[in-house]
Amino acid sequence: MSDKMRKRSLETQAVHAGQVPEDATRSITTPIYPSSTYRMEFPGDESGYVYSRWSNPTRKATERALADLENGSEAYLFSSGLAAMNAVLNLLKSGDHVVAVNDLYGGSIRQFEKIWKKFGLDFSYVDGTDPENFAKAVKENTRLFWIETPTNPLLELVDIEAVSKIAREKKILLAVDNTFATPFIQRPLELGADIVHHSASKYLSGHCDLIGGVLVAKDKELAEKIFFNQYAIGAQLNPFDSWLLLRGLKTLHIRMERHSVNAMKLVEYLETVDLVDKIYFPGIDGNSIPNKMTMPGGMISFTIKADFETVKTFATVTELFILAESLGGVESLINHPASMTHSSIPKEEREARGITDSLVRLSVGIENVDDLLIDLRQAFAAIRTKIKQA
Ligand SMILES: *Cc1c(COP(=O)(O)O)cnc(C)c1O
Repeated sequence: MSDKMRKRSLETQAVHAGQVPEDATRSITTPIYPSSTYRMEFPGDESGYVYSRWSNPTRKATERALADLENGSEAYLFSSGLAAMNAVLNLLKSGDHVVAVNDLYGGSIRQFEKIWKKFGLDFSYVDGTDPENFAKAVKENTRLFWIETPTNPLLELVDIEAVSKIAREKKILLAVDNTFATPFIQRPLELGADIVHHSASKYLSGHCDLIGGVLVAKDKELAEKIFFNQYAIGAQLNPFDSWLLLRGLKTLHIRMERHSVNAMKLVEYLETVDLVDKIYFPGIDGNSIPNKMTMPGGMISFTIKADFETVKTFATVTELFILAESLGGVESLINHPASMTHSSIPKEEREARGITDSLVRLSVGIENVDDLLIDLRQAFAAIRTKIKQA
């Protein structure tokens, strides 16, 4: 980033970072450049853009914005969060070992177990809430720590700073999936991580209207290796979605604030509901915030004192909370992990990890919070009737 931009606050960066003045028309917004290739002045002229798998002006503007927001050296955009993760795993070689948190995004575990294991990578999963578990799991061939915080769906928190100390001591790369927090709430590179990963399909874009992923590298050397993988593998984000993401980023700070404030108010309400058993939310109970998170974010999980069918009914009768997978958009969503996002995990393993049949996950949107409260109230009323009838 320019030194001038580095001095700006995060809110100002969200609006202006990556924006390059456009001279031809003096357009305020970054244009969408769909071009696959670029005119040369002479053979071998590589002074500008050459081919869009290598670099594209729209993608580059969004990559710059994300690098600035995460305070990294460079960022690289991919066609999905999992494609971005794939480019990190491709930094390793057969025989290497990875330690990851156990409450990990399901798709991440699937890629580790079903793809990478075949190519000779070895994985250990640990409870990330105690950083010492990482030290204990380290083997001679450990090359990467992969952490996610807050985790999905139990919103457990990992102390990034503490894990980064262990990683640095043992010369292990530390990658942090920052999808749930976003750079407005937590900046892992400033806490010692080497790589920040996001599914840009969630809060970064913020409107449930694209699938994308990003990697932000702390230093130039690592950035070059990631750039090579992006270029050599070829799962870049297209110019249209890059533009949509850049547009989404401009309101990231306002959205994250509203998501957080709405979520805090809903948690206050849920704490008073007799049908609610356990609430998972950053900062609640013993779940203290060790990571210098500035806000809790918009995700809430909780268990309902009812059977499988009744809990599914609860997730079906909400009106504003739309029953859907994914998260991080302006609209509120409700998810029943046991039958939806986490249904591929065997029941026993799922339950052992706390993802019970009675668990519900909310992605709290930016609607009027009173309307959201009314919606939850009527959903509880609906299942209360059902429980009484039973
Ligand atoms: C959605 C998600 C991913 C995967 O990203 P895609 O864009 O769906 O490929 C990875 N990590 C977390 C925490 C996610 O929520």
